Amino acid sequence: TQLRQPEIKRTKTVCTYCGVGCSFEMWTRDRHLLKVQPLIDAPVNGISTCVKGKFAWDFINDSERLTTPLIRENDRFRPASWEEALTLVAQRLLAIRDETGPDSIGFIGSSKGSNEEAYLTQKIARLVIGTNSVDNSSRYCQNPATEGLFRTVGYGGDAGTIRDLEQAELIVIVGSNTAENHPVIASKLKSARKHRGQKLLVVDPRRHEMAERADLHLRIHPGTDLVWACAMSRYMFDHGYADEAFLAARVNDVEAYRHSLAPFTLDYAAQITGIEEHQLREAADLIGQAGSMCILWAMGITQHSHGADTSTALSNLLLVTGNYGRPGTGGYPMRGHNNVQGASDFGCLKNFYPGYESVSDPQVREKWARAWGVAPEKLSLEVGEDNFMMVKLAGSDQLRAMYVIGEETAFSDADTANVHQGFTELDFLVVQDIFFSRTAQFADVVLPGCPSVEKEGTFVNTERRIQRFYPVMPPLGDSRPDWLILTQLAAKMGFDWGYTHPGQIMAEVAKIAVSFAGVSYERLEGWKSQIWPVSPEGVSTPLLYTDRFKFPDGRARLYPLSWQPPAEEADAEFDLILNNGRMLEHFQSTNQSGRGGRTTSLSPEWYVEVSPELAAGRSLNDGDWVRLRSRRGTLDVPVVVTDRVQGKVLFISIHQGKPGINQLTGEHHDPSVNTPAYKEIAVQLQPLQRP
Ligand code: SF4
Repeated sequence: TQLRQPEIKRTKTVCTYCGVGCSFEMWTRDRHLLKVQPLIDAPVNGISTCVKGKFAWDFINDSERLTTPLIRENDRFRPASWEEALTLVAQRLLAIRDETGPDSIGFIGSSKGSNEEAYLTQKIARLVIGTNSVDNSSRYCQNPATEGLFRTVGYGGDAGTIRDLEQAELIVIVGSNTAENHPVIASKLKSARKHRGQKLLVVDPRRHEMAERADLHLRIHPGTDLVWACAMSRYMFDHGYADEAFLAARVNDVEAYRHSLAPFTLDYAAQITGIEEHQLREAADLIGQAGSMCILWAMGITQHSHGADTSTALSNLLLVTGNYGRPGTGGYPMRGHNNVQGASDFGCLKNFYPGYESVSDPQVREKWARAWGVAPEKLSLEVGEDNFMMVKLAGSDQLRAMYVIGEETAFSDADTANVHQGFTELDFLVVQDIFFSRTAQFADVVLPGCPSVEKEGTFVNTERRIQRFYPVMPPLGDSRPDWLILTQLAAKMGFDWGYTHPGQIMAEVAKIAVSFAGVSYERLEGWKSQIWPVSPEGVSTPLLYTDRFKFPDGRARLYPLSWQPPAEEADAEFDLILNNGRMLEHFQSTNQSGRGGRTTSLSPEWYVEVSPELAAGRSLNDGDWVRLRSRRGTLDVPVVVTDRVQGKVLFISIHQGKPGINQLTGEHHDPSVNTPAYKEIAVQLQPLQRP
């Protein structure tokens, strides 16, 4: 062992999977990962990780990794040099911009790439091309939650830190399978419950692990959470639980909001949500009596046709009960991808420069133009298109070219058939990825990027914490760090930025974006981290809203809402609702987690969960095959009979399957943010002969 020990390299990195942001050492010899070693120094997770962080790294050396640029020629792809591929991309993008204008090109930035890469993606879109049509996958997950926070409290991020979650007297989890999607946060909550007597209320159609552990689990009818949340707010006012002193001192629009709650009585809520009235009362008393409360929510809330409104309703409830600005309080949308928060923070959004500075504000434009050394007129004041609209417009005169980085759009977007059609009709598609993904199959040029372990940069986790990661090993083959690819591409298009290290990119952001004024690689060295907004002196803000909300008058807003049913509900023809979500062992498209190794062997199969009562009514047993049919398509899967689901609500994972779940999803979306209503699928279930 002593002889071999010097060959082992230990490198600090940050997990590439979920938004918890666990960091750990990777022990490697050459390209071999010997072990993942969490250390007490890690600010988020200490010595914990989940199964993905510990074991799901086989993808790094997978034989299907892209190692050289590819160019489509006569419907086949041929290897190309970087010089040829980048020259072609630059020429085609500039030609399309000159022919039909900058807005005929759209960019999708990566939520797995670094902050520095997100910054360069939007810098190319805005400065080099001249469009604000740049977005990231938060459009498909937490954008509605961010909208709810913008409407009520002002910052597009979690109100506090994971430490606040541990300190709260009451945790309310709504539409989040926390134990499988954010496992290390769930572990901390389990510990707080065991050692501190923290109370737990879960509102979810599915009896997942945290629901089983809860003091009270409200099994809500899918898509009706807004009614529940508004009924809770009304109950707070009616029963003296509202924090009137807090409302008077710190919140606007209280009376208008109070009046808007008139319809939301408990018996109305019971009728719409399917929750017994006595359970609603029990939940309301838990909320009203808690000295401090945090609400966590995720895709079960946001991926609906009114996800922004429901997110707003949850934030309203926190305001009514005075649960912002104190330790152990606040709203916590659980961010999915490791850097989906950072991709938005660093400007991959159609309406914001980095730090959520509005593209439509002429003064903001002038500041960014000055910093980038161009006349203000070079930067557009028009809000761009988002992912949802780009995919819809793809191939039309309005959108002729797209540049997709690290996103599996052809699998993960709703209504797969339409997405594929749009991609086929584009004049030019660039895909930058680590694998020849389903999206890459539609590309004209494929550029091989690097996973986080082969480059340097920073990520932002769900609690707004910025952390550095370091190169564990060199890039595979001729692949290149994505920040370098973007730098070299910009140079080909006449913008020689000269970055030779991602720290230079962060230094540039810190000079311009107010929220990141004191962020620097030196202050983030090793295990150190910063939580934005960061003052010029480098002081973090772990807990927001301690004395002001982010509005000009410093006061929060209560936002009146009305109830509208889901865009698609079960009916006589399509009589079941297909709920869906992630599993512990996998992540999204499984392009990373599904490439052999421990996580694949732990969860190799796809199946649909069917309730015991439905199974009995349809004579179904474990292992029987069924065909699920929506108005858009069909999927054949085996059945697992379980009381995790109830009645006519099914559950399926979003990961596996050749066509995948999005064969079944449609064009329903939240019109305020264009997030697809992934959770609103009415289906039929037909028994099949075992294949
Ligand atoms: Fe990675 Fe999330 Fe697991 Fe932590 S909890 S190890 S960040 S997947």
